[in-house]
Amino acid sequence: CGIVAYVGHREAAPLVLKGLKRLEYRGYDSSGIALLNGDGLKVYKKKGKVADLEGILHDKVLHATVGIGHTRWATHGEPNDVNAHPHQSNGHRLAIIHNGIIENYNTIKQSLINKGYTFQSQTDTEVLVNFIEEIQKSKNCGTPEAVRIALQEVVGAYAIVVMDAENPDQLVAARKGSPLVIGIGENEYFFASDATPIIEYTKDVVYLDDLEVAVVNKDGLNITNLENVKKDPFIQKVELEL
Ligand code: GLU
Repeated sequence: CGIVAYVGHREAAPLVLKGLKRLEYRGYDSSGIALLNGDGLKVYKKKGKVADLEGILHDKVLHATVGIGHTRWATHGEPNDVNAHPHQSNGHRLAIIHNGIIENYNTIKQSLINKGYTFQSQTDTEVLVNFIEEIQKSKNCGTPEAVRIALQEVVGAYAIVVMDAENPDQLVAARKGSPLVIGIGENEYFFASDATPIIEYTKDVVYLDDLEVAVVNKDGLNITNLENVKKDPFIQKVELEL
C-alpha cells in the first residue's frame, strides 16, 4: 500500500523506515525493506507495524545507500512475514516492492512454474519479479528493458520499484493506476507513494504518469513509456508542508 525507495549517498535504512512511517496513514498489515551494499542484497520483512519491522532490525548492520521499503495491504495471500514485500527473484538478483494487483498473475505463474521457478509466497508480486528475471535471462537484456517488456504483458494496477544486485546504483520504477512520486536531489533520488516521505530532502518532484518507466542511476533520471520512447520529465516544486 505504501512505497518508499532511495538511491544516493545517505544511509538508506533510516530514511526508508522514516518514510514508511509517514505513509502509515494509508493503512497496512505488514512492512519490509531491502538494502543493497557490498555484502549483497538483504531483505527484512515483518507482519504488523513498521515498529515491529524495526524490532527485527535493531541488531543488524544496515549500512547501505540504496534501499526500497513497503507497507503492504494484502490482496493476494494472507498478511504474514513471507507474503510481506520486498519479494526477491529466484536468482536473488532482483527485489521488488509493489502496490496494486497483477490480475493475470496466475497465467504468468503457471508458465514460470513450467520453466522451473518456485514461489515462497502467495502474492501476485512475487510472480512479477520472477517474470522480470525470466525476461532478463531469455532476452539477455538489462533490468529496465525487462521491466518494460514484462509490463506490456501485465493486466492490472501497479506502482513498483525494482532493485538490481548487479546494478547497485540503479532503481527502476513504473506505475499504472497507483501513484508514484520521484524526488530529485543532488546525485540522489527518492521514490514514494506520495510526497510526504520526500519533502524534507527535496522539493523537486516528478509525478510519474501511467505506463511510464523511470530509471535512475549515475546518468540521472530517464523516463520512457513501455515501448522505450523517451519522455521529458516534468519537474515540479512540491507545495506540501509537513
Ligand atoms: N497485491 C500485492 C499483495 O497482495 C500488493 C498489495 C499492496 O498494494 O500493498 O501483496
